[in-house]
Amino acid sequence: MRAPKIIVVGAGPSGASCALAILQRMPRAELLLLDKSSYPRVKVCGSGLSPHALNQLERLGIKQALARETRASITSLRTIGPGGGELVIRSGQEAWVYPRVEFDHRLVREAVARGAEFREGTKVTELLRDDPGPGEARGTVRGVQTRSGALEADLVICADGSPSRFSIDARPRTTIQTIMAWYRGAGFTPERAWMVWDRALAGYYFWVFPEPGGVFNVGLTIPEDAPDVRRLKPLFRELCDQYCARELAGAEQLGRLRGHPAVVTNSLGPLSEPRALWVGEAARLVMPGSVEGIGFALASGLRGADLVHEHFSPYHGFSALARRRHQLATAREVLPKFWAGHAFVQAVRSPVVRPLGRALSSRRIKPLVDQALLKLLGQEQRAAS
Ligand SMILES: Cc1cc2nc3c(=O)[nH]c(=O)nc-3n(C[C@H](O)[C@H](O)[C@H](O)COP(=O)(O)OP(=O)(O)OC[C@H]3O[C@@H](n4cnc5c(N)ncnc54)[C@H](O)[C@@H]3O)c2cc1C
Repeated sequence: MRAPKIIVVGAGPSGASCALAILQRMPRAELLLLDKSSYPRVKVCGSGLSPHALNQLERLGIKQALARETRASITSLRTIGPGGGELVIRSGQEAWVYPRVEFDHRLVREAVARGAEFREGTKVTELLRDDPGPGEARGTVRGVQTRSGALEADLVICADGSPSRFSIDARPRTTIQTIMAWYRGAGFTPERAWMVWDRALAGYYFWVFPEPGGVFNVGLTIPEDAPDVRRLKPLFRELCDQYCARELAGAEQLGRLRGHPAVVTNSLGPLSEPRALWVGEAARLVMPGSVEGIGFALASGLRGADLVHEHFSPYHGFSALARRRHQLATAREVLPKFWAGHAFVQAVRSPVVRPLGRALSSRRIKPLVDQALLKLLGQEQRAAS
């Protein structure tokens, strides 16, 4: 069988990991990785890598190499609930902050070292499709259109993040708005992250994450339907003043405030067509509540690579059965986590549950609350010792 020609649109964690994992499995594949940005590029993100994300790096075979590089560890988490209850959790499991400007570039370099061709500064404007057959809503994908011309391929992998320009998912979007900034010289405790579920954030949170080199990233997430969503900048300043005026006094803000929408879901939209695949945030694979997306992006990149390796034919594409199995396997993997995240948001928003916030820090139930929060934040099941 001839080697397939594959185009991956988007070189974030989902696209770069998918490209890398395909080439690990199929070294002869002709793989073109496209991104509209020039790398290294700044990405609006807390850059937190949960134990779930670190497991995916292990599966990609690059965790040990990355562990020796520029990253910060999170060893404790300070949480403040909407009722004011405060907890400091020590997880005992590894979590990192690896700035996305370097993390994404690093993954791309790994894919290139395996044989991918990376074309940065290349914006894809549409998926090229054959004319639809009788009774078909869309024709089969046969490549992409870029500003500098058309590119043909046997398979196109859409990893263009949110909101995906090439999405075939007709469901209404649940959008989470964000705004964040980086600070140097702030007085936060090293290796400690913060998550504050302030009421104005309607079930979502204000965060502080430690980055390498004494930098902290600070931001907020808020659902599109919250009353304060139209005043993100003043809200961000108010929350900084309320929760960390002391720590930020005298700190230098590095660059401007930046935001980017995240799209979360608690059900699964279509992930594939016979000659196209959607991975990462382009498929809305982001955890409601925690907005954790990097681990899900890496996992979906890996799962996509398995699907390509085991079931893609350059002559016939994916079979309907293989696509159905991929859909089900993905649902089994992600949906229980997404439902837990969704339930958490509902609980934090609920006026009935909210007043319990203070009680949560009581000594008797603190271990239970710690476990529940760690689970939500992507901690993996620990092996029995
Ligand atoms: C403020 C904020 C904070 C977050 N914090 C965290 C966190 O701490 N931990 C965590 O796990 N998750 C976090 N997330 C979620 C996480 O950032 C995303 O889920 C993750 O980046 C998804 O990866 P991806 O590869 O699917 O998409 P992306 O990382 O968005 O990558 C998509 C790539 O596609 C490229 N692209 C887009 N359109 C085109 C086009 N037309 N042509 C060519 N290229 C294109 C883009 O340039 C980009 O490089 C956060 C999200 C936000 C908004």
